Amino acid sequence: MQHIKYSIDTDGIAFITWDVANSPVNFMNEQTMSEFLTAVDKALVDNTVKGIIINSAKRDFIAGGDLKWFLNYDQSKEDCFELLMKTNRAMRQMELSSKPVVAALSGLALGGGLEIALACNYRIMTDHPANKIGLVECSVGLFPGSGGTQRFLRMLGPQKAIEYITQSRKLSAAQALKDKLVNQICSPEDDINALAKAWILQNPEVKQPWDDKRFVVPGTPNGIGQKSGYTEFYSVSNAMAYKTTHGNMPHIKNVLSALYHGSSTGIDNALEVEARYFVDTLFTKETKNIIRASFIFIGDAAKGKAKPKGFEQASFKKIGVLGAGMMGAGIAYESAKSGLDVVLKDVSLEGAERGKGYAESIEKQKIEKGRSTHEKASAILDHILPSDSVDDLKDCDLIIEAVFENEALKNRVTKETEAVIKPEVIYASNTSTIPISTLAKASSRPDKFIGLHFFSPVDRMPLVEVIVGKETSDETLAAAIDYVIKIRKVPIVVNDGRGFFTSRVFGKFVNEGITMLTEGIPPAVIENVAKKIGMPVGPLAIADEVNLKLMLDIMAEDPNLTDFEKELQETASTIVHTHKRLGKKEGKGFYDYPKGGKKHLWKEWSTIYPTIEGYDEEEIGRRMLFAMVIDSYKCLESGVLKEAKDADIGSILGLGFPIHTGGVMSYIDYIGAQEFKDYAAGLAKKYGERFQLPQSLLERIDKAGSNRVF
Ligand code: NAD
Repeated sequence: MQHIKYSIDTDGIAFITWDVANSPVNFMNEQTMSEFLTAVDKALVDNTVKGIIINSAKRDFIAGGDLKWFLNYDQSKEDCFELLMKTNRAMRQMELSSKPVVAALSGLALGGGLEIALACNYRIMTDHPANKIGLVECSVGLFPGSGGTQRFLRMLGPQKAIEYITQSRKLSAAQALKDKLVNQICSPEDDINALAKAWILQNPEVKQPWDDKRFVVPGTPNGIGQKSGYTEFYSVSNAMAYKTTHGNMPHIKNVLSALYHGSSTGIDNALEVEARYFVDTLFTKETKNIIRASFIFIGDAAKGKAKPKGFEQASFKKIGVLGAGMMGAGIAYESAKSGLDVVLKDVSLEGAERGKGYAESIEKQKIEKGRSTHEKASAILDHILPSDSVDDLKDCDLIIEAVFENEALKNRVTKETEAVIKPEVIYASNTSTIPISTLAKASSRPDKFIGLHFFSPVDRMPLVEVIVGKETSDETLAAAIDYVIKIRKVPIVVNDGRGFFTSRVFGKFVNEGITMLTEGIPPAVIENVAKKIGMPVGPLAIADEVNLKLMLDIMAEDPNLTDFEKELQETASTIVHTHKRLGKKEGKGFYDYPKGGKKHLWKEWSTIYPTIEGYDEEEIGRRMLFAMVIDSYKCLESGVLKEAKDADIGSILGLGFPIHTGGVMSYIDYIGAQEFKDYAAGLAKKYGERFQLPQSLLERIDKAGSNRVF
């Protein structure tokens, strides 16, 4: 066997040890599972074996299923079902033999790894901050398929099982013990195998609780079955899931169904029910899209795939952040969290300290929620030095500028900083609108000048657009990517251009929302449809966040506005100047923001833009999405982006574009390229040339035929 080691000690204890070849972690696929099940079978039929310990030769136990294997699975649904049932039957045999089986969870046990452990009679877990267990499959569009839903249900009851599975919760050893998902915890110094063996020797005959005739699923009023209260519980859970997923996520719907149906029957039937729902899920395009986007695209980007070849890993020790406002404070905090020393400079020491205060407040909240300690918090905060002096920047090895969005000010700051830093130091600007090549003109070393466009709030948003100016060198780009990876963010490389990628494309979403309002579509419909198609926030709420006055300023600087955009500019100007509705900061935008109260849409819109009858919800949703998709393609065509997958990553992480579609370019394949082409033609006829597909995209679609376009 290549991946599983098998041995029996002198006391008749069989050790089945996961050690997947040529991989830092253990994972499950057809081959590793087949070897594992062969080993289990061998131990079960061997009369000299008294008990079994399943453990790992690596740091972690098992990291889960091999997602690449799932993504490329090309057999039939029936074959897939049979494969799952083979595993289920083998694990049931393990449960039904009275031989004690212990899982020694010395490190992470996630997804399928935990499913194996749940089928053991006893679980011991090493208590270490890095060790977690969890059924995390929902985070990649799947759900626990090797008995996970059914054993969780029988161990935790439906309420917690739904919560833990749908939210992909990872549990510490202490929490797992509290929930009785593990039976014993030990310290990293303890010999976990010796503890496992001791338990086996004391418990020669065992049985799983769910194989007892009197077994009752916890939380069910009358044993297994759906007597009063139980069905209602699932209805409410379904409704709550619908509220957040809008029916766009088949895996969530299926996990609830598998739990509901599985709870009305014995474990063997329940496992079959689970397998059916799992197969259904795996074959949906939504699940494939989520795996592809999150695991392949985002996963690769987070490892720095976009870094130009041939450059050593750049190492950073101390960075300077200029401007301790909302963005600067967040960038300083994220950098300090990754162990970098940060000089956080503002015009006054008070301002710089206020910026550090932001980091302090986040850490304080974490401590209150039990997610950090005073020691950890001060270790992070000690990395941040508030300052009002440019001299403090002199031995920094990276500068990130985040002062007000004002070209003259940024130029002045560039010059005064370059006067003190070393010549090889990279200088990055977090500007959101000014072209990097324009700002680089103030620099005496434009090859070291680059854009690092973070998103707000920096501590929660994982994306960073790395903006390459005309003169930015590859060496600078490579080092900037190293920094982004170091602070555990996801970089995409974007060529300089107005609005870069995300702001530009998001603008199209907002423009479409405002235009629909002026056409007489009720604002509540616009906002709700946006959420229904999977956007986290409606376009009008976004416009309020950005501020309409700022949008007008940005438009005023754009010499290439289309007729549609000029019309929109007039609308925005009327809203700002006549109706005095600028946005959230002013308390009055598309929404009203009463002090201390909840925001609500302004009631007067229907008098300004009289409501029309008979609007088409599907069309409203598609207008918003198509506007973003078409503009993203234009970014690709004009070289703002190099690859379609960067658009997918940027749209999902930066704009909240619905992940089940695979991202803004994959959306074309999600709804079908021909359908996309025809629908866009219809929209262009009705609403104008902004929906006209570029010739090169039409050609790509025709050329692709029945294959994917992107
Ligand atoms: P902000 O107004 O919150 O903070 C700007 C800070 O810069 C202030 O604290 C100010 O005192 C300081 N400052 C001004 N002159 C300075 C100088 N000479 N030296 C040092 N500090 C100085 O602004 P913000 O929202 O943090 O935005 C900062 C930059 O980030 C802007 O370029 C903005 O376009 C960009 N950006 C903002 C967002 C966002 O959502 N707010 C997102 C991405 C990028």
